[in-house]
Amino acid sequence: MKIYNTMTRKKDDFIPITEGEINMYACGPTVYNYFHIGNARPFLFFDVVRRYFKYLGYKVSYVQNITDIDDKIIEQAIKEKTNFNEIAERYTKAFFDDLKLLNINYADFNPKATEYISEMIDLINTLVVKGNAYESNGDVYFSVESIPNYGKLSGKNLNELQAGARIEANTQKKNPADFTLWKKAKDGEPSWDSPWGAGRPGWHTECVVMSRKILGQTFDIHGGGVDLIFPHHENELAQAYALDGEPLANYWMHNGFLNVDGNKMSKSLNNFFTTRDIMKDYDPEVIRFFFLSKHYRSPIDFNEEIIIESKKALANFYSAFSSIDIINILDQDIDIYEFNEAVQAFKEAMNDDFNTAKALAVMFDLVKEIKSKQNSLKKQQAAALTLYELGQVLGFFVDLEDRLTNSVDQHAEKLIELMINYRLEAKQEKNYAFSDRIRHDLSEIGIELQDTPQGTIWKIKE
Ligand code: AMP
Ligand code: ZN
Repeated sequence: MKIYNTMTRKKDDFIPITEGEINMYACGPTVYNYFHIGNARPFLFFDVVRRYFKYLGYKVSYVQNITDIDDKIIEQAIKEKTNFNEIAERYTKAFFDDLKLLNINYADFNPKATEYISEMIDLINTLVVKGNAYESNGDVYFSVESIPNYGKLSGKNLNELQAGARIEANTQKKNPADFTLWKKAKDGEPSWDSPWGAGRPGWHTECVVMSRKILGQTFDIHGGGVDLIFPHHENELAQAYALDGEPLANYWMHNGFLNVDGNKMSKSLNNFFTTRDIMKDYDPEVIRFFFLSKHYRSPIDFNEEIIIESKKALANFYSAFSSIDIINILDQDIDIYEFNEAVQAFKEAMNDDFNTAKALAVMFDLVKEIKSKQNSLKKQQAAALTLYELGQVLGFFVDLEDRLTNSVDQHAEKLIELMINYRLEAKQEKNYAFSDRIRHDLSEIGIELQDTPQGTIWKIKE
């Protein structure tokens, strides 16, 4: 298996530290607002990474932190005239609720920053004692010159960073590129006691402490969006190097942005849609399909047309399942070895740096096999069961039975519309016997017609 490693800037062979086990950490949300559909990209992608490793038989420990103390949370609390805890608790709950809406499995561990403050103080203290950090007027800074390779992950050079940082020169820092480990509390801000006075840990320290506490000194995969490479991940890595000269993680994976009209979807640009709003209009599997139809490192544009395309494409899986009556064969002992090649092709795609777009193409080949009149029923069934198995690896086909009984594919929708038109014509010709028969027969197969001032609408009978 190959994984594109931001550290080496190439696809590296993936070798876990312990055979058969994967330890992975992906940066989670700062809980001051509902997460937007751009934030959902890493949440969904790393969930798929974990699902795939499990499918391959690995034991996976997946950690996703909750940043529950941060400037933005404090600002939001001031705005709402409440305390930071109330804000953090509200949006932590919303985070989990929204993951559920998207059918994203929860991580194995969701550490909260505020539960690890004393460990963070210990780590900062160790760095001060080792000479990698220094206190200045109640703040503590990491000295980027104290380690040999600062900038290695992001490919930034220390001289450029110093020059860039000088614009907002901070006189308390020894080097303008030094970053904050401990932040002195301003009046009225939430704070914890420390050897440097009241304050709170910086974000980069939070993640390095939580990841190492749960996963150990060096773990396999560290992930997040590309915007986290610098400064966040660079600064996490710097602290880990300073502590024991070891890398924090062996593979650094970063997803590309979800864009709107070419700009990164973000709260600051105010061009965002919250996940919970999007979920009012769209099926979570459509959103999942939309994300997975592109490679995770490519930028992806969010617009109505692409979502409609995804909806249509996804419907092909369900219409293939309907055509073969999959529910009745799910628990039958049907040999699917005939499609072993498809399974191998799927794995090959996923083993190539999680090429989900290619993996979906393999699944569409199976749709063709299910629908091919040349194939025997047994072969069509085997193709359907293979499709079902592979789709589940990517998180599709949840509540399959419900979906198949309650949903109608696009062709069926068009047929119903046709029947409604025929009924209207029959009525106009005063052929009431025929118009009633259409209504009656549709009702017999579970489709109810309702005449409204705007025309006839239909729904599936409860
Ligand atoms: P934040 O709450 O801003 O720290 O973001 C949580 C996660 O979402 C991080 O991994 C970010 O890199 C990622 N992220 C934020 N905006 C986008 C976007 N527009 N597209 C993809 N990922 C994003
Ligand atoms: Zn982080």
